[in-house]
Amino acid sequence: MGSANRFGVKAGKGIRDRVNKIEKNMRIRHKCPKCQRKSVRRISTGIWECKKCGLKFAGGAYLPETDSGKIVKRTIKRVSEGV
Ligand SMILES: [Zn+2]
Repeated sequence: MGSANRFGVKAGKGIRDRVNKIEKNMRIRHKCPKCQRKSVRRISTGIWECKKCGLKFAGGAYLPETDSGKIVKRTIKRVSEGV
């Protein structure tokens, strides 16, 4: 029991670092697929909007790129399972 608990704390710390990186990615502006300007911001879960050309598009929940979003989603899922 003690060793399992210790493993949980260790894994939790690594995941927290990864979540911090994800949250940073959520806050930074992403490149617009239409005008290529870094003006894309997350307006809702999986919904992204470019402030320059007004393009709205669906992407990953935490990153505009769907492939990256999938990886992020999997990480988030693992976090909630661990807790
Ligand atoms: Zn744009």
